Amino acid sequence: MSQLRTTFTRALAALLAFGLPIVGAILIARHLAAEELEAETRSLAAEVVRRSDQALEQFEHGIAQLKLDPGIDRCSEADVTRMREITLRALHFDAMGRVSGDFLECSSFGEQASPYLLGPTDLVSDSGLAIRRRVLLPIAPNVPFVVAVKDGYAMLVRHSVASDIFADDRAASFGTFTLKDGHPIWEQGRFDSKWNRALGNGPEAVFRGDGNVVAVQRSTRYEFGGFAALPLRYLDAATHYFSRTLAPAGAGAGILLVLALDRLRRHRGSVPAMLRGALRRNEFFVLYQPTIDLRTRRCIGAEALIRWRQANGNLVRPDLFIPVAEECGLIERITERVVSIVARDTAALLLAHPECHVAINLSPADLQSASTAPMLRARFAAVGVESSRIVVEATERGMLNLDAARGILDELHSMGIRVAIDDFGTGHSSLSYLSNLKFDYLKIDKSFVDAIDQNAATSHVVNHIIDMAATLRMTVIAEGVETEAQAVTLLSWGVPYAQGWLFDKPLTVDAWAARLAADHQNT
Ligand code: C2E
Ligand code: CA
Ligand code: CA
Repeated sequence: MSQLRTTFTRALAALLAFGLPIVGAILIARHLAAEELEAETRSLAAEVVRRSDQALEQFEHGIAQLKLDPGIDRCSEADVTRMREITLRALHFDAMGRVSGDFLECSSFGEQASPYLLGPTDLVSDSGLAIRRRVLLPIAPNVPFVVAVKDGYAMLVRHSVASDIFADDRAASFGTFTLKDGHPIWEQGRFDSKWNRALGNGPEAVFRGDGNVVAVQRSTRYEFGGFAALPLRYLDAATHYFSRTLAPAGAGAGILLVLALDRLRRHRGSVPAMLRGALRRNEFFVLYQPTIDLRTRRCIGAEALIRWRQANGNLVRPDLFIPVAEECGLIERITERVVSIVARDTAALLLAHPECHVAINLSPADLQSASTAPMLRARFAAVGVESSRIVVEATERGMLNLDAARGILDELHSMGIRVAIDDFGTGHSSLSYLSNLKFDYLKIDKSFVDAIDQNAATSHVVNHIIDMAATLRMTVIAEGVETEAQAVTLLSWGVPYAQGWLFDKPLTVDAWAARLAADHQNT
């Protein structure tokens, strides 16, 4: 009997030892899968809002540009050409047109024999945007457009305009809706107007309903929201995926299983997915590399340099992930994050040191986006810092679309933000942008600084750059100064400012503040 009991107890213990980790692993697998699906849905909704915000901004910007040319006749060839130029620069709408009453009189699509009846308006937003949800045009009778009208101008957007957001063969629904009453504006897949209510007064919500994981997010600029929904059945598939890989690992290895799960999750994601995760988990931080006045060796500002520390402690270099973020359309979110961090980090320091500025690196996409300048001003205003304390650094790559860059740079300047041309001399573009755009600073790239004293021809080039900067009234900052000899030579050539390891490596904000305090003690 007692032998029987022992056997039974052992069997039970073995079952528990082997079984519990498996059950646990499956539960954890399900939890991880749910977390992942929710995060995916949330970032999809955020992307919908970002693009719709951008479309409306570009539309408003386009209207403002058209109004600058009142001499052009309505619907004349010149009018249509102007609208076409604006449309070509806009990323997230398909055409612009002129509307009178219920008629589309002409559009950037070109040739239109007579005014085209659009039919009645479906809804009018608080700001007076009249929206028709589904318009079929003679030029593309099978393609439904959303038509939004403001001040007699129309913006035409295909319902499928955002189909690339979710380039995956799973069934996703996403689109936009009015915040006031939850009317869909455009959508792909399905939308339920009660999803709107889940938002309440909050900025976003993620919930489960009708067999979906649903995320809704409010636009901060306009009175609409974005939604995304992914069917819950993908949860089962993802759970299977996690469990299938884990179960054969053996019941005894419970702890190993959990660790494996975690690794699996980390390594499964592509770099864009990892970047989204990094944004969500706040894995980015910023270091500050002082800019030095070569005459006094005192700090006059610093450049903000992003850093990414992954959950496992790995530090990823910005030159590895910034290009990926630029390619996959995440850079604007990253720039916004950098600006928020910098505003928070440096507000006290900037208020204590009125002579100091902070410089922020902008990517080409930031120089195409109408929201960059207002975002910069707003983030710093929120912490009591004036825009005049900000410098932005733009590279030659950002000047490829000159017209868009000019608009944004003018706007930055009108706010008192200064602009530096970064990595000067390394791009392949012609220098013609220099005569079209105004820069306050020119940053000589490290490769030229490295060549000082070593290569007479390059030294010659540096002198030319310095002369040209003087002619164009730009102040020169030399980058990557590592030796005293370089610093002395640059100063003798009339370069007033420099950055580099000779003076400081990128510092934490506290170390930067300590450096400034030391500068002041030495006066
Ligand atoms: P960059 O704008 O040319 O920044 C200067 C880079 O040179 C920084 O590298 C800095 O740490 C490094 N550096 C500074 N002084 C010296 C020196 O004396 N010697 C050497 N060898 N290196 C020096 P980091 O921080 O790795 O950044 C690399 C690039 O990543 C930056 O080049 C910039 O293009 C990009 N980046 C960094 N932060 C941001 C950001 O917030 N937004 C965007 N869009 N790009 C960023
Ligand atoms: Ca820079
Ligand atoms: Ca640079």
